[in-house]
Amino acid sequence: MTSSSQPFSLLISDLHLSRTEPALVEHLYRFLDQVAPGAHALYVLGDLFEVWLGDDTLADPLHTGVCNAFARLADSGTRLYFMHGNRDFLIGQSFAASCAMTLLDDPTLVDLHGTSTLLMHGDSLCTDDTGYMAFRQQVRNPLWQQHFLSRSLAERIAMAKDARAQSQAAQRDKTDEIMDINADAVATVLRSQGYPRLIHGHTHRPMLHQTALDGHLCERWVLPDWRPDRTGWLRCTAQSCQYEDFAGPIDFARTA
Ligand code: MN
Repeated sequence: MTSSSQPFSLLISDLHLSRTEPALVEHLYRFLDQVAPGAHALYVLGDLFEVWLGDDTLADPLHTGVCNAFARLADSGTRLYFMHGNRDFLIGQSFAASCAMTLLDDPTLVDLHGTSTLLMHGDSLCTDDTGYMAFRQQVRNPLWQQHFLSRSLAERIAMAKDARAQSQAAQRDKTDEIMDINADAVATVLRSQGYPRLIHGHTHRPMLHQTALDGHLCERWVLPDWRPDRTGWLRCTAQSCQYEDFAGPIDFARTA
């Protein structure tokens, strides 16, 4: 099944690392030390950090520690890829390069051990959340980003705090359905990419969805978020993908 001699790749997302949750950072170090070595590739599909205010914060010991751990894995031969999430979309080429990570566009279509696989963070599929989609369009604009990054760090911290408070206030009025993936948005992207397997994070609702679309059976794997008492990743080989944590394979519920 998941024999270690078989080529494999790993996918993680939504670790939401911060200085206030040291257990999460310890989980990541354990993962990079014990699980990831030997992988062909490690894909980090966004929200690695709870917040990212610019690559000039690299002096932060959390950032340098994580970066060095990734770079060590890359040195051992594993290819490292990073896709932006909605929390760390400001991670730039400079940080990525210093951690030996290659930045990926969202979405990116890859050949994952022989299976055409579309990688996304997932937030762009939550099209029912019109308030968030408008915010996303604003902050993904290069001019907005240039303006934000030109502020002092203190100003950026204040702006991020404001944005977070506004987002939390808005979320109180949103139902679970509004904040989940929109099925039509998934169908549109799968059609446009030739019906690949889809792997994404963001919703914190790990599950394998198998749906028929235009006569194609499409798999959609949602990655788990990490918590002090829960981790999880996807291990993919030429045969299949499998959820795992430090104890072994996990079965998140499946939907037909
Ligand atoms: Mn997210």
